[in-house]
Amino acid sequence: MGRKLEAYEGIVGTAVIRQLRQLGDKLAGKRVVHVNSTREGGGVAEILAWMVPLMEDLGLDARWEVITGSGDFFSVTKSIHNGLQGFPLTISSAGWQTYQDVNAVNFERMRPLLEDADVVIIHDPQPAPLLNLCSDRKGKWIWRGHIDISHPFRPTWKALKNFIVGYDASIFSMCQFAKTLPHQQFLIAPSIDPLSDKNCDLDIHELEEVRARFGLDPTRPLVVQISRFDRFKDPIGVIEAYRLVRRVIPVQLVLAGGGATDDPEGKAMLNDVLEAAAGDPDIHVLLLPPDAHRTINALQRLADVVIQKSTREGFGLTVTEGLWKGKPVIGGDVGGIRSQVVNYHTGFLVNTPEGAAHRIRFLLHHAELRNNMGMKAQEYVREHFLLTRHLREYLTLFHQLLS
Ligand code: UDP
Repeated sequence: MGRKLEAYEGIVGTAVIRQLRQLGDKLAGKRVVHVNSTREGGGVAEILAWMVPLMEDLGLDARWEVITGSGDFFSVTKSIHNGLQGFPLTISSAGWQTYQDVNAVNFERMRPLLEDADVVIIHDPQPAPLLNLCSDRKGKWIWRGHIDISHPFRPTWKALKNFIVGYDASIFSMCQFAKTLPHQQFLIAPSIDPLSDKNCDLDIHELEEVRARFGLDPTRPLVVQISRFDRFKDPIGVIEAYRLVRRVIPVQLVLAGGGATDDPEGKAMLNDVLEAAAGDPDIHVLLLPPDAHRTINALQRLADVVIQKSTREGFGLTVTEGLWKGKPVIGGDVGGIRSQVVNYHTGFLVNTPEGAAHRIRFLLHHAELRNNMGMKAQEYVREHFLLTRHLREYLTLFHQLLS
């Protein structure tokens, strides 16, 4: 059992907690099952790790199930992911068959749980076929798309849509991701847990220990991007931006990421990043274990500037994580980053390595402005992207679907 909701009272206020308890009372005992494809790595796992215990604390009977599959399955689902984010590629009919077969095996394992649930929330494309396998369902099924499907490669979306149309509702992080679907679509942005190891306050000794562990120079500025090694996170573009800044400021760069069990492309991308870094001792490419939450927290806090230069982004929890730590964030002008980075207020939106370099230089030259933006950034997260708002929107949606 995780933390109790009351632990957040000091951060969000009493009224917010009371309202959540009232909503929870109305849904007491409802069986809610979340299904995704990895227990660690990536934003969905990050969210489910706190959401499920807090739904339980609110009185719901909440579960988190993870589908398992072969390497072939995750290659196909990564291709679906890439296609949905606009990368043109062909998925063979054998690939689509593997996708369905692996889901069928998972379905048999979860059948009673899924058929009896009051609400099933299927996260992302990997487990999407589960609904069509369910012949005798009792509850409402929601497809929660976390990725940037604003400009999908048409054939990929067309094929996936066959698995989505039967759901009772879909949830997206941005209205730009909404699609023509025969059911209601809802807009719910993700959020962070401010008390988790990833986001809680850290004392100076811990920060210094992390700084020393990675050989970071305390006298020179630090730019940090935390991300899976994924083409859409554009780590190579970050290195290009760093090189442009480096001509005038002796900046250091951390690119830190780990793998996710449902992402088979990470290793190849990591090799490309290492090649682009070309042994520069001020580019710290860190491959972190999946439980390195406090280390990531410390790196974000040690940063002078946090960057998330994605070229497609469903939301980008790392942006909110950086903002919460009082850092202006330089983010790619795409997808969910646009809802977090308010130009000139909480950070800067950029489109190119040159643009990113320009904004990094600007922020490093204006320490006072950087601090002011950082304070605004934290308040912006308190208002919009903490878990209490996220829970309220989920509970309200369950209430609406079940009444
Ligand atoms: N993350 C992590 N370890 C890593 C890389 C990322 O714990 O090595 C976390 C990161 O702090 C964030 C989440 O994984 O909480 C990534 O979520 P985001 O929405 O930014 O991207 P996604 O990976 O889901 O595309």
